[in-house]
Amino acid sequence: MIDAGGTSILLVEDDAETRHQVATLLERHGYQVAEASDAESALAKFADGRPDLILLDLGLPDRDGLDVVDRVRAAGTTPILVLSARDREVDKVLALEAGADDYLAKPFGMAELQARIGAILRRAMPAGTDSEQPGIVRIGDLELDPVSHSVRVGGRPVHLTPLEFEVLRVLAEHAGQLVTYGRLLRAVWGTAYGEEAHYVHVYVGQIRRKIRRADPDGHLANLIVPEPGVGYRVSAEIDPARG
Ligand code: CA
Repeated sequence: MIDAGGTSILLVEDDAETRHQVATLLERHGYQVAEASDAESALAKFADGRPDLILLDLGLPDRDGLDVVDRVRAAGTTPILVLSARDREVDKVLALEAGADDYLAKPFGMAELQARIGAILRRAMPAGTDSEQPGIVRIGDLELDPVSHSVRVGGRPVHLTPLEFEVLRVLAEHAGQLVTYGRLLRAVWGTAYGEEAHYVHVYVGQIRRKIRRADPDGHLANLIVPEPGVGYRVSAEIDPARG
């Protein structure tokens, strides 16, 4: 559980009832919440208060929520979690490609919302909390070292090619968050490859096979979760195997 103390959230939602419910829950968990009901007031409050995180409804009365994503991204890296009734894959992709950090379709459960906020805030925290081995990413039995380019599962080495390693590194460093095909492709292959989603499927398939060989009990079987038509998400909450 992340310590919400002092974390400020700008909640942008035009539906008063939903806004009130979400704001009440967030405040109960210790977040400081500012509310906006349209894009203009959202951008004004963003400029004023520079929140730690923005929860953004896409369907706003005055402007498209994607405009808000664009404007916030032009100003910096403030994390954005999109909340929207739009369930079309193209909308998720557009929001994520515009720079939103994750996407939660309405209706959503409060536990799901908290998990997504926690994942985004952990990601946004300065690195180096593991002072003995900076940069090492651990998820359950998986250990990924970006410096030595090595991957271990339960201490057993997993031999990935450099491109497989990069795909897994980008996903693992965004654990808990949805990473679109386009974002993965640009991060790993470069800007010319934004449309080649089949590359990603092939590499993720290879990574899964290699991890499975080092993980005979299947502790990491659900490590990489597909979001069909959009991208992949690495689970943030996998307990290490015992004993
Ligand atoms: Ca709306």
